[in-house]
Amino acid sequence: MNKELLRKLPKIDELLKNDVIQNELKETQRVLIVESLRESIEKYRKYILEDKIQDFEEDDVLNYALGLLLKKKKNNLRRVINATGTVIHTNLGRSILSKKAVENAIEIAGRYNNLEYDIESGKRGSRYSHIEKLITKITGAEAALVVNNNAAAIMLVLDSLCKEKEAIVSRGQLVEIGGSFRVPDVMKFSGAKLVEVGTTNRTHLYDYENNINDNTGMLLKVHTSNFKICGFTEEVELESLVKLGNERNIPVVEDIGSGVLVDFSKYGFTHEPTVQESIKKGVDVVTFSGDKMLGGPQAGIIIGKKKYVELMKKNQLTRALRIDKMTLSALESTLRYYLDEKEAIENIPTLNMILSSKEDMKKKAIKFRKKFRHALDNFEFKIDEDYSMVGGGSMPTEKIPTYVIKISSENISVNEMEKILRLNETAIITRVFNNELILDVRTIFDEDIEEIIKALSKIN
Ligand SMILES: *Cc1c(COP(=O)(O)O)cnc(C)c1O
Repeated sequence: MNKELLRKLPKIDELLKNDVIQNELKETQRVLIVESLRESIEKYRKYILEDKIQDFEEDDVLNYALGLLLKKKKNNLRRVINATGTVIHTNLGRSILSKKAVENAIEIAGRYNNLEYDIESGKRGSRYSHIEKLITKITGAEAALVVNNNAAAIMLVLDSLCKEKEAIVSRGQLVEIGGSFRVPDVMKFSGAKLVEVGTTNRTHLYDYENNINDNTGMLLKVHTSNFKICGFTEEVELESLVKLGNERNIPVVEDIGSGVLVDFSKYGFTHEPTVQESIKKGVDVVTFSGDKMLGGPQAGIIIGKKKYVELMKKNQLTRALRIDKMTLSALESTLRYYLDEKEAIENIPTLNMILSSKEDMKKKAIKFRKKFRHALDNFEFKIDEDYSMVGGGSMPTEKIPTYVIKISSENISVNEMEKILRLNETAIITRVFNNELILDVRTIFDEDIEEIIKALSKIN
């Protein structure tokens, strides 16, 4: 250990006098600067104690501190570039909002608004009133209520209709959705008693029938959105379940998960049951997410028969699960597009990206590669066919034909390249497969390209 060197360690007060730091103080909070300086000094003290360095300059300590400061100044939650091709990427924020939804959220967040004020009467209003009509118009349901997310929606439905009562569910539908949301656990938590019927692969109507008793609160159908059971399988048709519920005067509830409002089979996808279809078939209550296939903000939407939705509106739990004004404003803007399906597909990024054709992706890939080649010499850019995923536990078997750009260089390994792009100022999330770095153009925006070029140009 070098005592001389220890004495050479600068004091925070000294470093604070440095011109660079003085400049930094004009725009950065002092507490962050002091913290960075202290951490840097400690780091050098440790180096000295462990005999890892023989000498250093004050500037070394300063520069290390400035590096730390750069990270501390950035928001923790920040924008990334999604080059994975997974459209509803649960780790990357699920659906992104349309321009109008973003603009509306900004305006409502920064200004006073009529969240709980009825402008017509000058009296107190309800935050739920703003979009109920819009949702019922689009879905055909009698009534609607919006809460924090679909998990909250299911909790509220169970608590309102099935407390201390039994909910009959098929064994094949006791699913776990990402982020440890498990249907059986949510049900237990809500105080509803779970009655599992049928087997993993086959459930019949008589399985439900035979388990109905005086204490049955609901027949629950959960859309198994994130996996498919194939082979020798049988699920009870929604129509039959509704008929049974009506005969026995028991509400039929469906957690449809993704909340598809557009019939994707029209666009060459396998048919995914839509929210409108469930309502048409007479389901009493349907719940779905706002930020999956719907393409809006995080929210849980509950629709169905008025008498049930009214019960939920009066439930004290609703207050704890309530939706925020920013979410509400973004959701209203998003839902308005659905009044005209063409507009929805054009303007809602999630729908637009999923439904963009393979031809469009090819054009995009060629355009991007041209820009890459023009700006960067030391890389090879190869265009190839591949598949994008919908993501978010939606349409798990649907592979969307796409085009990708594969990047390689003699000077750097694929894994190193992936890491550098990921740690870029704006993180660029790519895929590595078969020792190739893959950028799926489907989820990359035109304005992302400059940033990707900038990141790559730092490599060579
Ligand atoms: C995604 C999903 C949920 C959870 O919805 P969140 O909006 O994430 O709370 C519940 N049920 C099904 C079937 C789902 O697909």
